[in-house]
Amino acid sequence: MAALIDGKALAERMTRETAQRVARLSADRGIMPGIAVILVGDNPASRIYVDRKLHEAKAAGLRSFEHRLPSDIDQATLLTLIAACNADAAVNGILVQLPLPPQVDPLRVLGAIDPEKDVDGFHPVNVGRLSTGTGGLIPCTPLGCMLLLETVIDDFRGLKAVVIGKSNIVGKPVALLLLDRECTVTVAHIHTRGLPAIARTADILVVAAGSPGLVRPDWVKPGAVVIDVGINRVQGDDGQARIVGDVAREGMEHAAAITPVPGGVGPMTIACLLSNTVRAAERHVS
Ligand code: NAD
Repeated sequence: MAALIDGKALAERMTRETAQRVARLSADRGIMPGIAVILVGDNPASRIYVDRKLHEAKAAGLRSFEHRLPSDIDQATLLTLIAACNADAAVNGILVQLPLPPQVDPLRVLGAIDPEKDVDGFHPVNVGRLSTGTGGLIPCTPLGCMLLLETVIDDFRGLKAVVIGKSNIVGKPVALLLLDRECTVTVAHIHTRGLPAIARTADILVVAAGSPGLVRPDWVKPGAVVIDVGINRVQGDDGQARIVGDVAREGMEHAAAITPVPGGVGPMTIACLLSNTVRAAERHVS
């Protein structure tokens, strides 16, 4: 049987550690780290994500500042809010929930966030730091993937890693992190030819495509470690909506380890967001 990599348990442990760091900052420096969460519009999935992030932030002892804005907001108003959060000493981290409505340019908005408060790690300065291995805030989902991999892999050097998906928020940064650990990395995407054969070469297979059940058992090499980032809402045979990943579940016994969906990468993303916010506060005072 492939071992299940328990993201929920690891995320809970990490959040307990984050809460201890918050308590230390408060006791030693009189600082209570704060996160500003900006949600534009009423996309139901985004609302669920934001509510979860705020709930977990509170549980870890962080201050949170909620900004729920209408979907017809203009870009200038959003940029003014970000400038105010940048200037607010009580705010250590700023999160703008994606996607944004069409009248707002996401690159312009993400680029307006102070890189030191960019807890999602999407600002070009942090992207540059990641690609040059010079510190900075690391995007939460890719960081979560690496921490999950570390629970089952001691030495990454020389392992063949295949990342399916090349988005700025998951695929590209996770590929850079794997490269930084001396893996030999291939990044595949929708136009990649011969994907099953490429996937079969992987010791580490990270799948972030947003395509339910894309990766079949015969795409996975025996002994591979599989990280399933996908979150897809599908209708089950019973007519009920459920969440599935990008990797088929049946017939995966030959993998060494695999993340469940839900309960794998998802909880780690939030745990890493909280940790990044506290890290931003620690960097500010050190
Ligand atoms: P995206 O749509 O921005 O990018 C998808 C990438 O996958 C693209 O590069 C595309 O070329 C590639 N792709 C799509 N279909 C493919 C196919 N059939 N074969 C090969 N490549 C294919 O998506 P994203 O924002 O990177 O998210 C990917 C998935 O991860 C989604 O299901 C999303 O919901 C999920 N996600 C989960 C978390 C989490 O916390 N667990 C965080 C972010 C995204």
